[in-house]
Amino acid sequence: MVISKFNVTFAFLKIENDRVMIDVKLLKILLILMFPLRLYSQDETETTFAGIRTVVIDPGHGGKDPGALGQHVYEKKINLAVALCLGELIEEWFPDVKVIYTRAQDVFVELFERSNIANQNNADLFISIHANAVEHDKEKSSGNETYIMGVHKSEDNLRIAMFENSSIKFEDNYKDNYDGFDPSDPESYIMFSLIQDEYLERSLKMAELIQEEFQNGPITKDRGVKQDGFIVLWKTAAPSVLIELGFLSHPEEELALINEDNQQKMAECIFKAFKRYKEYMEQLTINN
Ligand SMILES: [Zn+2]
Repeated sequence: MVISKFNVTFAFLKIENDRVMIDVKLLKILLILMFPLRLYSQDETETTFAGIRTVVIDPGHGGKDPGALGQHVYEKKINLAVALCLGELIEEWFPDVKVIYTRAQDVFVELFERSNIANQNNADLFISIHANAVEHDKEKSSGNETYIMGVHKSEDNLRIAMFENSSIKFEDNYKDNYDGFDPSDPESYIMFSLIQDEYLERSLKMAELIQEEFQNGPITKDRGVKQDGFIVLWKTAAPSVLIELGFLSHPEEELALINEDNQQKMAECIFKAFKRYKEYMEQLTINN
């Protein structure tokens, strides 16, 4: 049925017993249709906001979970140092953006709790910071890479996800907390192929910007943007990335990562990517 504009415009008026009656409800609907921007409530306009109000920074591991082991340092220490530098930069340049850390000290935090922190604070972006390691051929593996949630395309990626997910073995009830997920069983990773990630595009954008900006940092070997099933990204309801800053198993890279100036420079690279991502998201808001 086609309703002409004329009929719709006057549909809220009814004539009953020679009196003109106004259907207020219908009039409101018509006015909203005719003047959508003016009559949107505050809440409705806010749901279209795509900028960044809250960023959750997640330094991997901590406390009883050291993460990867270098010759001189534990991964957890590097992750925390870079995370704190990043948070300070965001707070300094964007005081309106709320920065929340999943941990700001050397303490153990369960992976599901890290996602909870992001979800309870309505995070607009989740940045997990890690450093890599291999057990064999230590000289051969170097460089940085950024992961987003998804299905691994290579055994190498799966190995990294298995290592990072093995943090849950430090948790008391990990089988209950993660629906029986076994971080060291490749079969467990099949479930990630069923996930529809509504944040995939935005996560990918942030990951690409980080890898681009790392080209100006102390570790420039670009291992690219990759996908895998990381527990810490799995239940986080926001665009999410997991950064591997470099390899602690590589002697030169370990020394580069231990250096405080370099930690600051790596945080600056991630900050510049954050700034560009924020601008990109604000542009999306304007265009919508
Ligand atoms: Zn890690």
